[in-house]
Amino acid sequence: MTEKTLIVDIKRNALDDGPGIRTLIFFKGCPLSCVWCQNPEAKSPFLELYFDDELCVECRKCLEACAQNAIKFDYKYRIDRSICNLCGCCIDLCPNNALKFVGKIYTIKELMNIILKDKIFYDNSGGGVTLSGGEPLSHIDFVHNLLKELKKEEIHICIETCGFYNKNKFNELIEPYVDLIYFDLKISDPNLHAQYCKVSNERILENFEILINKQYIEVLPRIPLIPDITDTSENLNKLARYLKTLHIKRIGFVPYNPLWISKPEKIGIMPLYYHSEWISNKKKEQIKSFFSDFDYNDF
Ligand code: SF4
Ligand code: SF4
Repeated sequence: MTEKTLIVDIKRNALDDGPGIRTLIFFKGCPLSCVWCQNPEAKSPFLELYFDDELCVECRKCLEACAQNAIKFDYKYRIDRSICNLCGCCIDLCPNNALKFVGKIYTIKELMNIILKDKIFYDNSGGGVTLSGGEPLSHIDFVHNLLKELKKEEIHICIETCGFYNKNKFNELIEPYVDLIYFDLKISDPNLHAQYCKVSNERILENFEILINKQYIEVLPRIPLIPDITDTSENLNKLARYLKTLHIKRIGFVPYNPLWISKPEKIGIMPLYYHSEWISNKKKEQIKSFFSDFDYNDF
């Protein structure tokens, strides 16, 4: 039984990502690598060191703490991650919390203790728990065990997925427990999907088509609106046609948030994509015109 896994963040009292008041659990690690990923700290399945230069007061205490000589003040991202052994000594000495680990190991019991603190709010609001990431289904054995505990407590379960999971394991370990799936559909063309997200979309579309025929699971396909990648007329037209052929009536849009750009550098990653603007009203109207036959959220 997989009883522990790496979690990036836990948000209580969340009002997005599913109905009612919810606890969101963000798992670390994703099989895709979208160039625009708004949660780059959740991409790697490993513990990472995070450095926030806006909090750093240049006291150099971290320099003294590091036996590996991995901290370099003349280096763009401050930490030489090729020699950092994640000992955490610099974190302990930093007076201003400019350094921290991204990721923390949790057991099922620890997560359930946190989740159950808000049971009364889930019950009164029609809420529950949402598993997100990263990709929660990369942790499928752990998630299976967590779902069993959540079901014993009669808690509503939503999973947000990129769709790149093993369908047999999903059928056996996840399907009997989950109530709602937010399923990301990003790019229609398989080659462009591979170019921007690291993997082709064939397995994702196969899993989506299997899932929408399940009787007891509500599935909401969601389209991230990424300027010049997913929000092109060609891509949106193709996705709308595809969803119509599957008789889908309701979809979700996830608008682009340019604020993500401050995140990659803090974990030592060079961003591969950037667009500085929020979605315009004109663009919104254009997007809506492709999906006039669907119900969708305000965005
Ligand atoms: S975690 Fe340890 S090895 Fe890495 S930079 Fe900090 S003190 Fe150095
Ligand atoms: S210890 Fe913290 S505040 Fe001081 S130089 Fe290092 S990162 Fe900056």
